Amino acid sequence: MQHSLLGIHHVTAITSDPQRNLEFYTGFLGLRLVKVTVNFDDPGSYHLYYGDREGHPGTIMTFFAWPGAPRGRQGTGQINATAFSIPQASLGYWLGRLHEHNIQYEGPTSRFGEQVLSLRDPDGLVTELVAHPGENASAGWENGAIPAEHAIRGLSSVTLWEDDYEQTARLLTDTLGFRLVSEEENTFRYALGTGGAGTRVDVRNANGFWSGKIATGTIHHVAWRVATDEAQQKWRQILDEGDFNVTPILNREYFHSIYFPEPGGVLFEIATDPPGFAVDEPVEQLGTQLKLPPWLEAQRAQIERTLPPLRRQGE
Ligand code: ZN
Repeated sequence: MQHSLLGIHHVTAITSDPQRNLEFYTGFLGLRLVKVTVNFDDPGSYHLYYGDREGHPGTIMTFFAWPGAPRGRQGTGQINATAFSIPQASLGYWLGRLHEHNIQYEGPTSRFGEQVLSLRDPDGLVTELVAHPGENASAGWENGAIPAEHAIRGLSSVTLWEDDYEQTARLLTDTLGFRLVSEEENTFRYALGTGGAGTRVDVRNANGFWSGKIATGTIHHVAWRVATDEAQQKWRQILDEGDFNVTPILNREYFHSIYFPEPGGVLFEIATDPPGFAVDEPVEQLGTQLKLPPWLEAQRAQIERTLPPLRRQGE
């Protein structure tokens, strides 16, 4: 299909402390800070984007910063884990790094035939490193904290906890074009296209578990990739006709977005690959300055006064 979803575009979560968040995602995980901007729907707060060298879709983890906000609760109707892909041969390197940094972890455990290390980010988000034997589209960020050969290659999967997983499963397979590829205990793995890293979503049957509450330390939404604006328009039409309560197309400057809740309550986004993060600063300088969309530039002085200072790695 011309409009097929291609995989995960990005995952967006909420941090209580942007500085600590930046130090973990760049300093420990070795991702590149590819954009510093504000939440376009709440310009008084940061929106930080991490990814590979160019910020390719499929490598992007983003955070809204809500300092001082209450902690959320992880539960059903939520994304409860984000998995990143590492090279198969890098598992030992990462184990050593976790020890060196005194970071608690579980694993390696085997899941769907792959080795998984599980840790928590400073806000308590479950962060997984999956040793992935397959090809990865991205080379990662070769100038970061991690030697190029061991660098995170991008997102591998997200895990949804669902009270009624079957209705989510139906949306994935009957509407969004996923197929069931595997099941293990009470978790079902769905994938798009080739089924490689970055195309998967794991749906866990968490029937009877308490429901999640979105605030700091929880994941806000997952975005799925489309190649073009035409594909997105097509999805908007499909979702609108299916009464999925889909938003209008929103200009997020680095991509265009529509949002809709899946039946279990997880917010899904469909985001375009173009134009990408180099639209307002060259690739070499990604993330080095506060970027604002044109419609917020007039308020720059006020916004800069509101935001807490952010110290990049090496500054
Ligand atoms: Zn998003």
